[in-house]
Amino acid sequence: MKDPKARLDSLRADIERRNPAQPEFHQAVREVLETLAPVFAARPEYAVPGLVERLTEPERQIIFRVPWQDDRGVVHVNRGYRVEFNSALGPYKGGLRFHPAVDIGVVKFLGFEQIFKNALTGLGIGGGKGGSDFDPRGRSDAEVMRFCQSFMTELHRHIGEHTDVPAGDIGVGGREIGYLFGQYRRITNRWEAGVLTGKGTGWGGSAIRPQATGYGSVLFAAEMLERKGAKLEGRSAVVSGSGNVAIYTIEKLLRVGANPVTCSDSEGYVVDDKGIDLELLKQIKEVERGRISEYAARRGPSARFVRGGRVWEVAAEAAFPSATQNELDADDARTLIRNGVKTVSEGANMPTTPEAVRLFQEAGVAFGPGKAANAGGVAVSALEMSQNAARTAWSADRVEEELAGIMRDIHATCHDTAERYGAPGDYVTGANIAGFERVADAMLAQGVI
Ligand code: NDP
Repeated sequence: MKDPKARLDSLRADIERRNPAQPEFHQAVREVLETLAPVFAARPEYAVPGLVERLTEPERQIIFRVPWQDDRGVVHVNRGYRVEFNSALGPYKGGLRFHPAVDIGVVKFLGFEQIFKNALTGLGIGGGKGGSDFDPRGRSDAEVMRFCQSFMTELHRHIGEHTDVPAGDIGVGGREIGYLFGQYRRITNRWEAGVLTGKGTGWGGSAIRPQATGYGSVLFAAEMLERKGAKLEGRSAVVSGSGNVAIYTIEKLLRVGANPVTCSDSEGYVVDDKGIDLELLKQIKEVERGRISEYAARRGPSARFVRGGRVWEVAAEAAFPSATQNELDADDARTLIRNGVKTVSEGANMPTTPEAVRLFQEAGVAFGPGKAANAGGVAVSALEMSQNAARTAWSADRVEEELAGIMRDIHATCHDTAERYGAPGDYVTGANIAGFERVADAMLAQGVI
């Protein structure tokens, strides 16, 4: 048999050949395969032919037409996706993204990442992801509702509380989950609360689900710093994005006594010398669905909007990329390192390019990969499924305590696994190997399927 590294390299080349024009998927696979060679060397049971080949091929890929009418009666046709990647540990679980850049390669990268992330939570959930190239920005509530209804009219036949459980992601929040759930209930004539997560707390949603990803990302950064004898308290932080993950990252940073000074959207960023005013940010983004430039206009002299700029040019000791993939590149990493950054925690999925990750690691920056650092969201989604199955609702305090325990466990698992495989402090290797081991064990036990 070839040596493990050569085998993984040839597998990677094969995946890139068989899945052309899917750069994000190639990037996500490459990042995982690059860290697996030591596991193959140490545990030959994982080197059986076919295991990694199955892991990198989705169990099912669904692509469908989503026709809908705008408020003027014009018909639009979008494309819908659901990639059911791996169900060895439980029903497929992962969000839906509505964004014009969504294509099958983006959904596959997100679904692939989700397998390992979900495994790291220690809970019984497989990996999947979906979405559409629909752009909800600038659309009325009625248009978003009609789109969601059309999307669910096809999707409903593929999902279920024991099969596949979608949630939100970019462009899909509480409003969209409500419309999607309503249409599912109407078509199936079933109150099946566990079919979607991120529901409203009055009708089956879990307390703390909206907060969970951002809170978890801050908790992960705090754990990484603690291992180095440091704290987040009193430190300045740069946060990108101004959606669900960014807002609750900022909220948690404020709660632990850190000082978040930025947020952004696709038009530019805001820097606020007095620290971000959370209530104003929530009012503009969550209530009015406005743009981040309005924050600077309303906040007064402490804040300014930098059109087209990147938050990474603002000096800070902690960085929380919380918008989208590949938003932090090598040049940004160099700037952050030069400005003294101590920790980077990925709230978004794959926001840091591979070269930037390498630079952070070489500079000794505590770097938390999204698979681990942003797993708090899906973990609380799984707790929402537990509450739905038991027809009960837990208090916010209880869910927050569970979330904190899960993030501590994920951190310890990644940290200890990295040490076990001779890569101390390398949370990328720790997360990939620990996630892989759990999924691989289940796949081996369940036979060649
Ligand atoms: P939202 O839609 O709530 O917010 C997304 C934010 O990112 C917006 O500010 C948006 O700005 C910005 N953004 C999106 N695409 C781009 C782009 N191409 N360039 C620049 N800015 C962009 O999404 P979430 O907060 O839910 O998700 C953010 C990230 O976190 C994603 O990577 C997602 O996969 C990840 N994640 C989310 C989880 C969750 O629970 N929601 C769980 C785990 C990970 P604009 O409005 O201008 O587009």
